[in-house]
Amino acid sequence: MDNCDYIALYCKLVEALGGKVRPHSNIPEAYRSPFDRTMGLDYVKKEIWVNWFPGTDMIGLIHEAGHVFASKIPPNEVESDFVFLGWEQAFAKEMGLYNDWLDSLQSYWIPWQVLHEITPWAYSGQGDIEYSDLDDRAQEAILAYLEATAIASGLVVDGRAVSIREVSAAGSEL
Ligand SMILES: [Zn+2]
Repeated sequence: MDNCDYIALYCKLVEALGGKVRPHSNIPEAYRSPFDRTMGLDYVKKEIWVNWFPGTDMIGLIHEAGHVFASKIPPNEVESDFVFLGWEQAFAKEMGLYNDWLDSLQSYWIPWQVLHEITPWAYSGQGDIEYSDLDDRAQEAILAYLEATAIASGLVVDGRAVSIREVSAAGSEL
């Protein structure tokens, strides 16, 4: 698939989750991603804004979707994006971009508290560690942990990344 196919698939998946992808040529700073000025989001409206170009970072966009659908807390208030990384993992699989997602995970800082809990044999210090600095066994353990916690917390159902921002019959967000 070339990037256009990924973009089409991304739009389709976002719409299936109850959101919308909006092309935007100049994303206002308040809505802009802190790591990429070509993308942003409107959390309340469940819109992902993107200034498409041939090299649009699809993994970054998957992260934006995670903020919108896998978190009940708006991006500027969320304490750690790590809590929905397992959702991103599942979404990347659905997109057929799992290997690219794994590549980008290499430079992801894993919270030390998680490392103490999941890989105590690998790390006992008190500072976050880049995924790529962990050995194979610890990396495997982190991947399995992401998958298991995403399922346990209802972010992934039957292998699919779902939206936890459904609207109740009364119209308010659950
Ligand atoms: Zn984020």
